[in-house]
Amino acid sequence: MTKIVVLVKEVPDAAVQKQVDPATGLLDRSGEKTLNPFDTHAIEAALQLKESGALEVDEVVAITVGPSSAVKALHKAVSLGADRSIHLTDDALVGSDVVATGYALAELVKRENPDLVLAGQQSDDGQSYAVGAVVAENLGWPALTQVIKLEVDGTTLTCERQAEYGYDTVKVQLPAVISVGDAINEPRYPSLKAIMGAKKKPLESLSVADAGIDAGKVGKEGRKAVWTAAQQPPAKAAGMLIEDDDTAQTVEQIVTWLDERKLI
Ligand SMILES: Cc1cc2nc3c(=O)[nH]c(=O)nc-3n(C[C@H](O)[C@H](O)[C@H](O)COP(=O)(O)OP(=O)(O)OC[C@H]3O[C@@H](n4cnc5c(N)ncnc54)[C@H](O)[C@@H]3O)c2cc1C
Repeated sequence: MTKIVVLVKEVPDAAVQKQVDPATGLLDRSGEKTLNPFDTHAIEAALQLKESGALEVDEVVAITVGPSSAVKALHKAVSLGADRSIHLTDDALVGSDVVATGYALAELVKRENPDLVLAGQQSDDGQSYAVGAVVAENLGWPALTQVIKLEVDGTTLTCERQAEYGYDTVKVQLPAVISVGDAINEPRYPSLKAIMGAKKKPLESLSVADAGIDAGKVGKEGRKAVWTAAQQPPAKAAGMLIEDDDTAQTVEQIVTWLDERKLI
């Protein structure tokens, strides 16, 4: 039997403007929050492996590291089909960077001892694209990123991954950490029944001490990256407006504009 762990994160809703709090140097995460949309692709990939029988999946476990509000992201994950969830939450985690977050997640994964860890390609707030690889490094497992196709043969996964130059096909042995690209699937919507039942599925809440995590390796103590300054992106220059009085002249103006910028 196989166990799949899916890494999921609570992020500010897409409509919330993301900014750094200058007083703390941390991301201002106030406002409406939601399950990281990229992680719904990882959940969907786990469910498809389970439902297709490609892997004999015993259970899918959603794991998050985040504040108390992150429980809602876990409820969403189980309403989408995860069997249970684990929430690592502790004041000691505040200010964790990718290295600290990846270490903490890897310690949670070790407790579960799964065959496969799935993650989204990126979070919608930090957008490091790196946590999956850091988790794998801590576990000593292979990591693949931007995977958009997964085929299973026993304990071998054949993965197609998107690269700048095209596609790579890579074979990897389980256990492994796979970050899926958002082109891998079309995530399902939770049914009303699943949403109502989500709070009844097992949810384990752990502190840093409960999980055997070294408090010196997380939060402000353990982070390697420190925010020093931030500035607003430059305001966009106003675009050029062309009145279409004479279409032939308008087309000429557009072509000249594109030509001057070597765009055609
Ligand atoms: C200036 C600054 C301030 C910050 N302040 C804070 C802060 O106050 N509080 C805070 O929590 N973070 C803060 N962060 C962000 C924090 O460092 C990152 O969220 C964290 O390191 C994860 O990296 P990421 O979000 O870029 O994930 P990515 O590497 O982009 O995520 C890839 C995948 O990893 C998984 N994943 C990522 N994070 C988690 C998680 N926590 N739990 C489970 N799965 C996860 C998901 O599957 C996700 O799709 C800050 C970052 C910066 C740059």
